[in-house]
Amino acid sequence: MASKTKYSEALRYVDIIGETCAILIGENIAVDGFWDRPIRIITHAHYDHLKGLRESILRSKSIIATPPTHELIIALGYIRSKDLLSTYLSKRISLNYHEKYVVNNEVIELYYADHILGAAQVLVETNDYRIGYTGDFRLTSKTEILKNLDILIIESTYGNPSFRRPFKNDVEELFVDLVLDGLELYRRVIIYGYYGKLQEAMHILRTRGVDEPFIMPRKIFEVTRIAEKYGYRIGNYYLSSTKAAKSIMYNDKHIVFEHFNKARYRRIRDDALYIILSGWEFTEPIKRIDQSTWLVALSDHGDFDELIQYVERTQPEIVVVDGSREGDAHSLAKELRKRGWKAIVLPGSKTIDTSLF
Ligand SMILES: [Zn+2]
Repeated sequence: MASKTKYSEALRYVDIIGETCAILIGENIAVDGFWDRPIRIITHAHYDHLKGLRESILRSKSIIATPPTHELIIALGYIRSKDLLSTYLSKRISLNYHEKYVVNNEVIELYYADHILGAAQVLVETNDYRIGYTGDFRLTSKTEILKNLDILIIESTYGNPSFRRPFKNDVEELFVDLVLDGLELYRRVIIYGYYGKLQEAMHILRTRGVDEPFIMPRKIFEVTRIAEKYGYRIGNYYLSSTKAAKSIMYNDKHIVFEHFNKARYRRIRDDALYIILSGWEFTEPIKRIDQSTWLVALSDHGDFDELIQYVERTQPEIVVVDGSREGDAHSLAKELRKRGWKAIVLPGSKTIDTSLF
C-alpha cells in the first residue's frame, strides 16, 4: 500500500464503536463488544472485553473464543439466565490457536497472547487485507507476533511514556521472597488480584517451590480448576468453605487468594501478610503501603516500551490504537507517529495525514 486512497480503502474494514467498545473487522466480525454482525469474537474473559455479550448472544450467529475463554465465561457467571445460556451454548464456537474459521470469504485465526488463560489475538484475512488485533497482551518470549499486516489494532492500557516498568524481570522473584517471608513471620499470606492474574501468581509460586496449601472462595476455585485443566501446575488447593480448608487455616501455614475488589475491606491484623497484585505500579516492583500490606507490580499488560516494540516487530502499514477502553490511546498514537508509523485512534477520525511521511 502506498497511496492515500489505499489507506482510506483499507480503513473501511476497521472501526471501533465508542458506546459498545466493539472492534469491527472486515464486514462480518465484531470483537470484544456488541455490534450487529454475524460473528462476535471474545479475545479473553475480562469484563471490559465482554461488553454487550447478552446482545451478541441474542443477535449474532456465532460467538467465537478459545476453549478456556468459553469455560471461564460460564464459570465466572457472566451469563445469568438459563435461556441465554442455552442460546450461548448453541452459538458457541471454540477455536484453538491457529485453527481457521471462514465466514463469507473472511478467514479468522486466533494467536496466543500472553495475558490471562485463554487470551487470544485475532487475525482476519479478507480478500484484500490482513488485519490484526492484539487484544490485551504482554510482550514476552511466549507472545506471538502478528506479521505482514495492513492494519494492526493495538491495545493502549499503558500507552503513556510514563508507564514504563524497568524492573519487570525482578518482580516474580521478589514476589516469591515476600510470600516466603510472610509465611515464616505470620504463617498466613493473603493475596488479592483479578481472575487470571491470581492463577498466574499461583503458578509462579508453585514453579518456584512454594508448596503450602492454597485456600480460595468458589469462583477463584473454579477458575483455578479450569487453569489446571489447560496446563497450569497448581495442586494442593482448597475451597475455603470446606472442613479441610478450615483445619488448614487453623493449624498450618497457608496462602489465601481473594478477589482484588476485597482488598479495600481487608482488616489489618498482625496475623497475616497482605499482598495486592496491581499493574499500576511503575516506581518499584514491590512497595509497602501499610504495616502489613505490600503492592506487587505483577502486570498482565505490556508497558509502554512493549507496546512500541510490538509495533516495531509487526511492521504494519497502519496502526489503529484502541481508544475505547481504559488507557492512553492518544499518547500512544502520538508516540508512534513520532517514530514514523501511520497511527490513528479509533473511535475518531480515520484521516491519516500522509504529508508527515
Ligand atoms: Zn484483559
